[in-house]
Amino acid sequence: MTQDGIDQTFVLIKPDALSLSLTGYVLSQLSEFHAGLRFAGAKIVHVTRMLAEEHYAEHKGKPFFPAVVEYLMGCVHYPDSPDKRRVIALAYSGPGAVTTVRKIAGPTSPHVARDTAPGTIRALGTIVPLKDAAGNPAGERMDNLVHASSSPSDAQREINLWFIPSDIMPAMRQYATEVCDDYYYLKDGNLSMTREPGSICILAPGQMAWKSDVEAMQKILQGEPAHCTLDAVVAKYLINEKLETS
Ligand code: ADP
Ligand code: MG
Repeated sequence: MTQDGIDQTFVLIKPDALSLSLTGYVLSQLSEFHAGLRFAGAKIVHVTRMLAEEHYAEHKGKPFFPAVVEYLMGCVHYPDSPDKRRVIALAYSGPGAVTTVRKIAGPTSPHVARDTAPGTIRALGTIVPLKDAAGNPAGERMDNLVHASSSPSDAQREINLWFIPSDIMPAMRQYATEVCDDYYYLKDGNLSMTREPGSICILAPGQMAWKSDVEAMQKILQGEPAHCTLDAVVAKYLINEKLETS
């Protein structure tokens, strides 16, 4: 919660919702009329493995982690059409945004949602049994149509992970920004302040960045521990740069 009492939350319309043409339904359930919240930002994102793994970092090591990453990347619902793999990333602003949207989304499991919270978005989802390479049962995948932040601190992490400051309307930008003074380049997973053949420019002087990103990159360059990984900083600057086919 911010000083003015206005929360923000982060929502993803996941690939299963897009493939089922439920986008309009989800947006309508989350509309200002129903939810009392306003759009702060929105974009269509072709999700890289780097971004999906960072988004679900808290689940790394769990049995369903590889499946949920592939699901978010769109590999599951668009196996033969990488060009169709996308999600809609949204930020909403308003009183109690996190709890309001979680309530409209419903419980994580679509089966639980159908039993205990009919009418929620996730009650329209599916549970898919998974098998290992030998064909034995290996857990399940919960195709639950939407992601919604589960706490204000998660919302901050997720909005900072998926959006750059200029994606968010100025009046609704809640997290500190900074105009960058330096060049930051990425090459082979390493950060550098000097350009080399094949390096990608992440930030350049004059560009507005999250203050937390600039601080993290400065720490990483000094070899000191940062509050987040390098991937969590750079993934948002690489969004929609190129088609990822695997
Ligand atoms: P939520 O999305 O409700 O915050 P979690 O953060 O626990 O739920 O999990 C992230 C996503 O991973 C879920 O939305 C769901 O798609 C998937 N998931 C969670 N738990 C499981 C599970 N036990 N088995 C399979 N998939 C799961
Ligand atoms: Mg969660």
